[in-house]
Amino acid sequence: MASNSSTISPLILDQKEDQELLRQIYLTNMRQRFKSEINRLTKGGMQKLIGNKPYVKEMSFIFTYIYAWHWLRHNLNDRYRDQLLDAFKAPERRFLMQLLLKSKNTNEFIDGYIDHWIGSDGDGPKQKRELFFLLSVFENNKQKLTEELVNIWEGLNLFSRTYKIAYADIAREEKDRYGDMLSEKDLERLDLVDQLQDPKPNSGIDKSSFEKAGIIPAMGCPQTCRHCMFVWRPLKPKDPEPEKVFNLVNKITTNVLFTGGDLTKHMSSFYESIKAMRNVTTFAILLNGDFANDMQTTQKLFYELEAAIDQRPSDWPEANVLLQISFDDFHQEVILDKNGNLRERIPVKKVANIVECAPTYYPKVQLALLHKQTSLNFSMDIFNKGVFARLANSLGDRGHQIKILSTAPSSREKVNPLTGEKGSLIKDIHFVLVKYPEVPIFLTSSTVDSYGRAAEMEEGEVVKEYELLNEVLKGKAIKENFDIDLMFWFNGWVTLFNAVHICLGDHYKDGINKILSRQRKDPLIHALNKFDIKLMELYSEIRSDIEEKINSASGPHQFFHSITEESEVRLHMTKRLISLREKNS
Ligand code: SF4
Repeated sequence: MASNSSTISPLILDQKEDQELLRQIYLTNMRQRFKSEINRLTKGGMQKLIGNKPYVKEMSFIFTYIYAWHWLRHNLNDRYRDQLLDAFKAPERRFLMQLLLKSKNTNEFIDGYIDHWIGSDGDGPKQKRELFFLLSVFENNKQKLTEELVNIWEGLNLFSRTYKIAYADIAREEKDRYGDMLSEKDLERLDLVDQLQDPKPNSGIDKSSFEKAGIIPAMGCPQTCRHCMFVWRPLKPKDPEPEKVFNLVNKITTNVLFTGGDLTKHMSSFYESIKAMRNVTTFAILLNGDFANDMQTTQKLFYELEAAIDQRPSDWPEANVLLQISFDDFHQEVILDKNGNLRERIPVKKVANIVECAPTYYPKVQLALLHKQTSLNFSMDIFNKGVFARLANSLGDRGHQIKILSTAPSSREKVNPLTGEKGSLIKDIHFVLVKYPEVPIFLTSSTVDSYGRAAEMEEGEVVKEYELLNEVLKGKAIKENFDIDLMFWFNGWVTLFNAVHICLGDHYKDGINKILSRQRKDPLIHALNKFDIKLMELYSEIRSDIEEKINSASGPHQFFHSITEESEVRLHMTKRLISLREKNS
């Protein structure tokens, strides 16, 4: 087979026969999201949303269900509404489920809610007493109370944008952010950095200079996962010179990661890199797994990976490929297509094809599944529910059995997004297919930062790093850092692993020595690297929304990302860090 896979194109698998199974998965997931939103709001979330208003405590319950009415219409296809609500059978909540189903708008829902309690016997539960209290505030005038509730609800401005509009807004912001890259202010900033003294001016470059380097052939992905950090991506480079990128990356590291969305269409560049970079011994590539249409296509890609390794000259250091495949409850989410059929965004079956294929190509090609942390990670549920269980079933259908070799917890406790309780979570899993006991497959999980589309997700869906952010904001030292290792783009940009918006120049024009010197000298990226809270102060010198940034941050990485997104702010921070350093020296 020729070593060129640009011909592999992901296909949408026909899942018509799986509709019943997909319906169950879809409803289970939606019910979980719905329930978790109700729990969050009744446990104080709604009071927080309503804010500083009179009678907020008494209003919280009805507003939670007004929210629920809108949530259902915002997130769920109409035809599944009654099926979802059918599972909530508690007699005392039945009238609410009916109202959620039948009311045509907010007014009608509120009217029905008030009428229900007026028409009910006895003292009733707390919600009834709250409603009567609210009525008494409005002189027992039902219409006045309804109007007030509708006004407050509209003032909250929730669900006012469809996902389509929200994503379009985010895409615009991202486009502007990339447009700001290497703009006048960024160039001024880099000039300032260039004038600083290099702490290690004579430091030579060798293959161990960096633990790793990233290569971004292009940014792009045809998928639209809800947890994706990117909506808009820079256009494909016009005249890329991959050999130059390989040549310079080969000088600084032995460990490379190809990334940039889904790289299925850029596999030939990856193969070329394997054959071009003598010093590199680990070639990692991140794919979304959508290429694995069937076993034949899957094998073709593995074969090509192995062939690229085999084509390295025999006197070069031994190398291998680390094939990283995204695999989580969002990449594999069950969604509705435009014809109203259910399908998995990227079918589990495709990941099963990859897992089944991988052992034959080990150790030249090693497989790692990259997973996102959810409430399931806090217990054995990770194996019995969700996407891992679906993978085990899919492999089981073809006669394979998974054996778990070991699991490893996260280095610190985290908060379960569903229960709000702190606990240990399963971060890493080592497993094998029983048929290939010597071939380990690794699954590692990480959190989802609230950038891009992920900013529109609900609180209960993924694990957040609020606690870690609080530690950082209190000035406490944490083990994590902001990764400032370098990513080299085919379009010339050099950015950071944790910040594709911070650019250290154009490697084609500036040359590697200048870029590496900037990496050593740049006070901004070193402040970021250690989450220096001084940056908050500097940000607040020219922007007034630091509180908003803190309140909407999902963790320290996202927070520090968010306060450095504008070139004007980056320039200001750099100037101030330089002047502070001069003052202290
Ligand atoms: S999360 Fe991965 S597969 Fe999904 S849209 Fe983003 S890059 Fe594509």
